[in-house]
Amino acid sequence: MIEPVDCPNCFARVVILSDDVCPRCRKSRRDVPESNRNLQVVWIADRDLLPGCCVRCGVAAHNKVSVEHIESWTPIGDDGPSLGYRSLILMILDGVFRWCWQEVRRLVGGRAAVEKNSLTIAIKVPVCDACRGAVIEPLAADVRSNSLKLAVHRDFAMNHEKLISHQ
Ligand SMILES: [Zn+2]
Ligand SMILES: [Zn+2]
Repeated sequence: MIEPVDCPNCFARVVILSDDVCPRCRKSRRDVPESNRNLQVVWIADRDLLPGCCVRCGVAAHNKVSVEHIESWTPIGDDGPSLGYRSLILMILDGVFRWCWQEVRRLVGGRAAVEKNSLTIAIKVPVCDACRGAVIEPLAADVRSNSLKLAVHRDFAMNHEKLISHQ
């Protein structure tokens, strides 16, 4: 049985065949750049407790950077001339839902904000002085759990796992 793994080059979850080459980025698993060797993939939710070490290199971190994902979609009802009774109802429901959601968000002061037709997930992650300027892009996002998939240093990953298991 062939198990999917996280590719050490592009961090996608893939099934690597006998030639050790990732089907997505076409790079070999045996040829991993130095900067990727200590990284591994984790899902971080916006409510998770995070360790005090740098996401990039694992040393003590005194700064934070925001990692963001913006999910946008086309509003219901923008389907042109076929707009019928059903779409109209959906459009109204969608408007009501969006308004309620915004109110809830305003009241609880959550970090995910609905603006027009997009949703932002922003998570502040610790970085050390040396990694302060690094731009950290999420590999994937899950809007239902407000989580981002990131490639992080293995020490950060290990400590994060410990913290969330006690949460
Ligand atoms: Zn790959
Ligand atoms: Zn660092």
